[in-house]
Amino acid sequence: MIALNDLSRHVEPMRDDLLAAMTRVLDRGWFVLGPELQALEHELAERFGLKNAIGVANGTDAIELALRGAGIVAGDEVILAANAGMYAATALSAIGATPVYADISDHDLNLDPVAAAAAITPHTRAIVATHLYGRMADMPALRELADRHGLILMEDCAQAIGARLDGHHAGSWGDIASFSFYPTKNLGALGDAGLVACRSTAVAERVRRLRQYGWQAKYIVADGPARNSRLDEMQAAVLRVQLPMLEAWNTRRRAVAARYAAVAHPELRHPATSGEDYVAHLYVVRTTQRDGLRAHLLANGICSDIHYPLLDTFQPVNRAQATNAARPLPVAEATVGQILSLPCYPELSEPEVTAVCKALTAWSGR
Ligand SMILES: *Cc1c(COP(=O)(O)O)cnc(C)c1O
Repeated sequence: MIALNDLSRHVEPMRDDLLAAMTRVLDRGWFVLGPELQALEHELAERFGLKNAIGVANGTDAIELALRGAGIVAGDEVILAANAGMYAATALSAIGATPVYADISDHDLNLDPVAAAAAITPHTRAIVATHLYGRMADMPALRELADRHGLILMEDCAQAIGARLDGHHAGSWGDIASFSFYPTKNLGALGDAGLVACRSTAVAERVRRLRQYGWQAKYIVADGPARNSRLDEMQAAVLRVQLPMLEAWNTRRRAVAARYAAVAHPELRHPATSGEDYVAHLYVVRTTQRDGLRAHLLANGICSDIHYPLLDTFQPVNRAQATNAARPLPVAEATVGQILSLPCYPELSEPEVTAVCKALTAWSGR
């Protein structure tokens, strides 16, 4: 069976280095907000050209705390795509901000700048661009749009760490950005972890307060609504072991993607995978015969999955909300039933990649 992902394979070659890093933390006896996190924040900022980097507990907290840090409050409208797994919408609902869905581009399935422009109202405060599947959204156009209207531009980089567009990394285009180090991401912890990035020092200071009870100093609560959302020293140490390998892993992911992309099939539409703006977090094909393809792959011992099976606007929790239903999203609605994720991770062997390619080629198209 070729699994959709295999984290045991991923960590096995790093076992000794991970154990050494964890032992270092044990020996130090400092487990939260310590030198490992400080070093990790510094290393991530350096590597990805981020002015400020603030470790938090997970990627969803990172979205919420970035938006709160930038001043998004209840009632503000935030423009986003509906096909990105509900993460940004979950953060918005915690704030009480209003999600305003705009359609995606048929080319790359990311937020369409033209649709985003059409969704702007006097209440709009921010645009969230999720770099879905590891493919960067059209940041030059979205940056220009945000600047023209005085809006906050946010990037959700959970799937796109290491991606670059016009020489600038994902996370450095937006005023604020979020990262997730959930174990299956391209850079994954052995548990939960996340990161907020931002340009403004004032926003960074605010996020640092909000991630720890709103403290401006120990026991002095100066800001809120806050929470406890810290990235612990064990996870920080584990991430520091892996960071130097990220570039090579992303290169290997792209090589797997390139093999799949070379399979020509009349019923398959391959993703837009141009270059270093795609880090192949997921390899997502489109077909009108998705159930047939999925069954065929499974019969050939190949797992697949759907990212994501429901648009935000069709999630049970949202069905009652008129705001979300109002705007038609033709591209998002047409593609949600066609997308299928194939196994795509650095540890796939060449014979496994070949087996997937062969199975795709042999598919009847039904
Ligand atoms: C994984 C993911 C998140 C959430 O990250 P968590 O660490 O699981 O909270 C947010 N956005 C996107 C696009 C993701 O893929």
